[in-house]
Amino acid sequence: MFLRQLNLFAKLPNVDSDIQRRAQNLNILMAAITLIALLLSIVVAIFQGSGSLSKATSLLIYIPIAVLLIFFVINYIINKLVSPSLAAILFLVVLTAVCYLSDTPYATTWGRNMIIMAIPILVASVILPPASSFIVATIINLLLAFVSINQQLPINVIGILTYYTIAFIAWFSSRSLEHAIYDLRQAKERAELAARAKTQFLANMSHEIRTPLNGIIGMGSLLSDTTLTSEQHEFLQIIHKSSDNLLNIINDILDYAKIETHKLTLENAPFNLRQCVEEAVDFLAPTAATKELELAMIFAPDVPSLAIGDVTRLRQVLVNLIGNAVKFTELGEVIITITQKPMTDTQNLFTFTVRDTGIGIPSTDVDQLFEPFKQVDNSTTRRFGGTGLGLAISRQLVELMGGQIELKSVMNEGSTFSFTIPLTELPEQDSSYRTAVQPTLQGKRILIVDDNASSRDLLYQACQLWGMEAEVAANGPTALTRLKQDHSFQAAILDWDMPDMDGLVLAQHIRAEIDAQAMPLILLSPLGKQATEQTTLFTARLTKPIKLVQLHQTLVAMFEHPQSSRITQGEESAFHKQMAKKYPLRILLAEDNKINQKVALKILSRLGYQASVAENGQQVLDALQNSPYDVVLMDIHMPEMDGLETAKRIHEQHAPSLRPRIVAVTANAMAGDRENYLASGMDDYISKPIKIPELTAVLKRCATK
Ligand code: ADP
Repeated sequence: MFLRQLNLFAKLPNVDSDIQRRAQNLNILMAAITLIALLLSIVVAIFQGSGSLSKATSLLIYIPIAVLLIFFVINYIINKLVSPSLAAILFLVVLTAVCYLSDTPYATTWGRNMIIMAIPILVASVILPPASSFIVATIINLLLAFVSINQQLPINVIGILTYYTIAFIAWFSSRSLEHAIYDLRQAKERAELAARAKTQFLANMSHEIRTPLNGIIGMGSLLSDTTLTSEQHEFLQIIHKSSDNLLNIINDILDYAKIETHKLTLENAPFNLRQCVEEAVDFLAPTAATKELELAMIFAPDVPSLAIGDVTRLRQVLVNLIGNAVKFTELGEVIITITQKPMTDTQNLFTFTVRDTGIGIPSTDVDQLFEPFKQVDNSTTRRFGGTGLGLAISRQLVELMGGQIELKSVMNEGSTFSFTIPLTELPEQDSSYRTAVQPTLQGKRILIVDDNASSRDLLYQACQLWGMEAEVAANGPTALTRLKQDHSFQAAILDWDMPDMDGLVLAQHIRAEIDAQAMPLILLSPLGKQATEQTTLFTARLTKPIKLVQLHQTLVAMFEHPQSSRITQGEESAFHKQMAKKYPLRILLAEDNKINQKVALKILSRLGYQASVAENGQQVLDALQNSPYDVVLMDIHMPEMDGLETAKRIHEQHAPSLRPRIVAVTANAMAGDRENYLASGMDDYISKPIKIPELTAVLKRCATK
């Protein structure tokens, strides 16, 4: 019977592993105890029958049996679990006891009968399901009762009655077990249905919220290009910030739902690891700059540039952790370190650490912060905002990628989040800037002036690695003293933000003594901070967080071509204006929503494109008959004929080489949507709200294919 119960649970693999485990343990225990009880009662019966057991000795044997009996009763009360085999044993035990205590002369016959009875009952209860084993046991018992009824009438009547009572309890409890299993199954099905409904609801909700958000964000960014009073500008900033926050919250909730419903599949493609970390850091650099926080990343020299893995998810975890570090730090620094060690023949274990000097986390909260919607306390939420989902998502993502995340923190001193991920390293073409001594730089004397120790170290290590003779100074006055003492320095890197004497003032002092030819200067400035003096005082400018590739290029260019002026940063908006010239495309926009039409047209015109508009699928097909287009930006949900149907018709009506590229533009952003659209005839996919960089990337792909 217990085996059967085991099987019943085993057929429900996902019911509830905890209940399943407990039931299994319980059944194994009951099986063991049942066997012991059976053996004991048989021993007692045999000795009883042969008359070689004193009353006192057999009582001693009955004590453990009595204890077992109590255990079964308690077990039944608590767990509602009794099997018919157990009932049969109980019956035998009780019967033997009655037989013994009544000093019957027929004890021998009883002992024999019991053994004959026990074996088939046990076998039946193990092999057959509960109800049938009960019936078999009853039939055997009735037969035995019938055979022996003439000899031991009074005792048999008591025995049979006892058996039926216990067997009924057993049958009843096995019924309740079956009911419980049935209920669990039903509950499981209901829960699965609810989970599916929840995911569907989230997908719909995301779609519904994203559509109006597209209008708000798109129009907001267009408005910011017009002439505004400072008050209007401020209002616009708030609109921007709030809609971005809202978008983040929707993305967080969606992500969490995707992970929970196992809908998230990881990519496994080659990517640039350094670029991935740099992008995450760049994303938060403006916020860090406004808070005047030092933000730096330190790659161990053996960390490769290229690896295979899921770049989007890795970046997401980094953005979450760096975002938190910046959010919860008012003063000091946020340092990101990346190290690696070999794991298997093909994979290395990478460790990403984000350390801040922020408010810290109480040790009592450390464990629960990785649970969804958990924050240190509610006042934190009010002060800093956020959903409390970021760390839960990060942990799930890291674990999905095969790694682990951990947190160490000291209150008011700072927190260190670190996570590991196994990745496959790829050989890279040009890694010279990372490890090798550089001929142009070798032996060059350089002075590094930065008040932040982490960033100073980073610069020093890099310069040393390239064979330079570097020296550091923690502030302007020390730097000036060193320059006066030692005239062999050939260049200097100056941090702009330093207490007492900042980089610009220091540069003026240096320039008063030494001209630019003899000692070129590089300015390290926070993102977004610019001054006109820069051009005259400095040969080059680098923005913090420092990227070693850029530093390397700058130093090499400076020493190879000392005359060249400062290295300028690429200007994004100028690039945007070049888009249409560089990639001329005839674009048809298929969009039924008037606001979204306006947003998309404005964004396209900012990129230099004049797009035509169709409001539904039929209009798209008509437009394509009348004039050729290179790209159709296709909304999915449109009246009359939706985007998917339209794409199908375009494929039918146009030869592959002559048809336009079809880009799905939709507010559906659940996992799998992209793949579904690509499988239904779309060439590319972009989610709403439309972001200019994503659109330009898609258009570029359309132009080059
Ligand atoms: P959110 O930031 O949206 O609140 P998270 O899951 O990312 O959600 O973080 C949960 C909580 O953990 C935060 O609200 C904050 O209380 C705490 N926390 C996370 N990172 C840090 C950090 N670097 N320093 C201090 N507290 C942190």
